[in-house]
Amino acid sequence: MKALEERIVKEGKVLPGNVLKVGSFLNQQIDVALLFDMGAEVARLYANCGVSKVLTVEASGIAFAVAVAHAMGVDAVFAKKNKSSNVSGDVLSAKVHSYTHGTDFDIIVPKDYIKPEDKVLIVDDFLANGCALEGLASIVSAAGATTVGAAIEIEKGFQHGGDALREKGMRVESLAIIESMENGVLRFRN
Ligand code: 5GP
Repeated sequence: MKALEERIVKEGKVLPGNVLKVGSFLNQQIDVALLFDMGAEVARLYANCGVSKVLTVEASGIAFAVAVAHAMGVDAVFAKKNKSSNVSGDVLSAKVHSYTHGTDFDIIVPKDYIKPEDKVLIVDDFLANGCALEGLASIVSAAGATTVGAAIEIEKGFQHGGDALREKGMRVESLAIIESMENGVLRFRN
């Protein structure tokens, strides 16, 4: 999406560890018009796929999930993060390694929120190594439901999580794919 790429170039800050900061329009202060345009674009990409639920992980995926779910006319669900491994039987859970914090955590969704008949679209703000997406996809399959695909605001293509998931057969649509950001210079995949 051109508008997203332009905004990343204008306001994105490259931090050490290949972390891109987009707090001024996406992650902390939110440009709501851009957010809802992104939701509409994802709804267009996944039109006629029978999506019945949008799933993300707290906290930074929630705004995008709401925009996508609103555009598709379905509910959004977010997995909660839990540091302890004290997981009860009424929940679906998966272990995820945090790219930005370098730690492991459990993500948890109550069993009631994803039914076997659900066709789930997984969304997130960033895609780096793909751990978050894999964890969410394993929750969907533990529920006996189907993952239709994934939609991401910003994929860091040079970290290859997205390509690995595509090779495994998952449909992954990213609204901007950064091919490199060396020395603070951003290049996008066409
Ligand atoms: P992955 O699990 O694909 O390695 O990383 C994706 C998760 O880590 C996302 O949920 C996102 O919150 C966080 N993340 C990964 N890379 C970045 C980044 O460059 N900037 C920000 N703000 N978050 C990131």
